[in-house]
Amino acid sequence: MELTALKGVQDILPDEVHRWDFLEQLAQRLFPRYGYRRIIIPIIEESRLFTRSIGQETDIVEKEMYVFTDRGGRSIALRPEATASVVRAYLEHHFDQQGLVKFFYSGPMFRGEKPQAGRNRQFYQIGVEALGCAHPFLDAEVIACAVDFLSAAGLKNFRLLLNSVGDAEDKAAFAKILTRHLQDKRELLCASCRQRFERNILRTLDCKSPVCKKIISEAPQLSDVLSPESKQDFLQVQRALDRLNIGYTLMPTLVRGLDYYTKTVFEITHEQLGAQNTILAGGRYNNLIADLGGKPAGAMGFALGVERVLLALDAESVPIPVFPDTSVYAIGLGDNGSSKIFEIGQMLRRENIAVQIGFEPRSLKSHLRQADKLGCLFVIIIGDNELAGNTIILKNMRQGTQDVIGLETIVSELKQRIGSINEQS
Ligand code: ATP
Ligand code: MG
Repeated sequence: MELTALKGVQDILPDEVHRWDFLEQLAQRLFPRYGYRRIIIPIIEESRLFTRSIGQETDIVEKEMYVFTDRGGRSIALRPEATASVVRAYLEHHFDQQGLVKFFYSGPMFRGEKPQAGRNRQFYQIGVEALGCAHPFLDAEVIACAVDFLSAAGLKNFRLLLNSVGDAEDKAAFAKILTRHLQDKRELLCASCRQRFERNILRTLDCKSPVCKKIISEAPQLSDVLSPESKQDFLQVQRALDRLNIGYTLMPTLVRGLDYYTKTVFEITHEQLGAQNTILAGGRYNNLIADLGGKPAGAMGFALGVERVLLALDAESVPIPVFPDTSVYAIGLGDNGSSKIFEIGQMLRRENIAVQIGFEPRSLKSHLRQADKLGCLFVIIIGDNELAGNTIILKNMRQGTQDVIGLETIVSELKQRIGSINEQS
């Protein structure tokens, strides 16, 4: 008998492991710049965690999950994704008392789907989850972090697709409208869309079959039924991305295959990949924490497929960059100050400086306490005076000293000061 690895499951041999390590180490260096801390969650969970979060009627739960009964008669699943587990851990360990909490993870996921290029049964994901915040800047920050990761890895030819699916009520209202619209065209849809029609009609929106695409292109759009609040939030996300010069394509049919998404959803595709060209995907899931038994709280995250990002890197013949980690806490006072600091923070990250932006409206004192807790070496502050004078306050947290410096010198000042601290230590 010849023993081989299972179909759709890959050995990663020593000559290749550095490719997985490269992305994992990049995540470990880059995500903490955004305030994410690493979490390691189990590979097995009770099956009902996934049925309840991802949704009973989704492809992942219905067709793709590896489920077995353990010796105690419990139904156990190999994790098909990590968001549900992160939320479970967040609730189980009472992180829900702490305001905005940020986790990142990496590891294998399991889905019993048809193996092909870019689609495996055991594959690796790296992802982030930011829990306990409904602010639209968070959506933009999570997306910026995703784009930053892919750029830092060396990719160029990728595209950000953006949509809002609205809140639970918007989704339900749209499902009704779509049902009415598709009712008499039902027999024309592909076999899986005929099933989706009964069970999860929103999924017909991203069907790849040309016939369904044509029918859907004539259907009403989700953006037409969004509540004023959902619309407003979505506009704010777009404006924040504009501020960071992050380009995106609005894609009104983007819905994602998991039930827990609300409001912002996004995907990043790579031009040089074939049919499986989505390398990263994510969105908001404002109901999931409550659905799993917690107090209602907003949350947002993404996951990238390591194998697909590696295929994209190969397609672009990319070299491997190196990143230092250091730490600055950035505070903007007032509306103008916080918008400006959001922009500056992102600019510093591009300069290889680790920045945590305190954009939640809090007192200066509580921001400084937070900076201290995070062990940041420097704090930078912009208020109305600084905005008017094109300056910035630079505070040395170890020495307790502070200077007002010209905004245009911030990068060189920080690099020099962080450099001399690193020399001392
Ligand atoms: P797809 O439509 O490509 O199947 P999905 O909607 O199932 O993606 P998510 O559950 O959002 O994907 O997972 C996030 C990312 O993980 C995907 O964008 C992709 O890069 C990667 N991924 C998902 N399933 C697989 C798989 N079977 N093999 C390899 N990578 C995968
Ligand atoms: Mg899939």
